[in-house]
Amino acid sequence: MKIRNVILYLIIFVCSLLNMDSDFEEYTHLENKDVAVIKKEDLPEEFTDMAYETVVDFIQKTRCLDKEWALFFDYVTGEILKCVVGEHDNVDVTWEDDEFEGKQISSIHNHPKEVLSPPSGKDFGILKRDFEDYELIAGFEYFWIFKVNGIHEGLINEMCGASDAAFISSFLHCISRYNDNDVFNRMHDLRYGGELSKYINNKNIKDIQLTRLEYDNMTNKLNTAEYGCRKRITNPEVIKFAKEFEKCPYTPSGKDIMYAFYQSIGMDVEYDEIFAD
Ligand SMILES: [Zn+2]
Repeated sequence: MKIRNVILYLIIFVCSLLNMDSDFEEYTHLENKDVAVIKKEDLPEEFTDMAYETVVDFIQKTRCLDKEWALFFDYVTGEILKCVVGEHDNVDVTWEDDEFEGKQISSIHNHPKEVLSPPSGKDFGILKRDFEDYELIAGFEYFWIFKVNGIHEGLINEMCGASDAAFISSFLHCISRYNDNDVFNRMHDLRYGGELSKYINNKNIKDIQLTRLEYDNMTNKLNTAEYGCRKRITNPEVIKFAKEFEKCPYTPSGKDIMYAFYQSIGMDVEYDEIFAD
């Protein structure tokens, strides 16, 4: 019986290794597309040229894919330490407690076109992981850099709530204004990210730094060689309801929801400051 258990564990262990290797193998064979990337000086100072190459390579490989990929890499050596492929709106990464000892860890995952580019509530999970200094998100529209320092559980929950509120209020704000689907998607992405950044800045949360970068069309010619995310709302009934939402005098607007949320957490914001660009 005991031997059988040992053999089973061995099989599970070997399978998990094979699984990880096959994802990395697949990753190395992804095609590097000629897409706009970010500039070296846009990354935090600690990121070396090697780390920049790892980031550029990731953007070129994944920006046009409809699946999420996630890497953990060392932002000093540029070495990829973990590589996992997931579904079109999430990717799960597992690791051992001491796996990254002595390494300077950043993660990077992509958000495909159908997923909004800013961090989702789940992406704020980085706040719990003390071995990971940065989380980079290569969204389809924008590139995001997330740096955190020793956050307590209360703030994590608050940020998840803020993320939900920003997502809903930006959706309601944009759906009634932009008829063209592409324009709506871009504006929703922009406003959702803007609301999140504004929340962190307004509350002066110094332990979280969230930066949005635009991709640079001056394509870098280095030619070297994820997380649960927000699905876009596509259900026609929900969209129809949302389009009517702000016209109805008896239902709150997106602005009202955002204002109510700020009030509920005791944040001193004037009604007219909401959505003030
Ligand atoms: Zn994500």
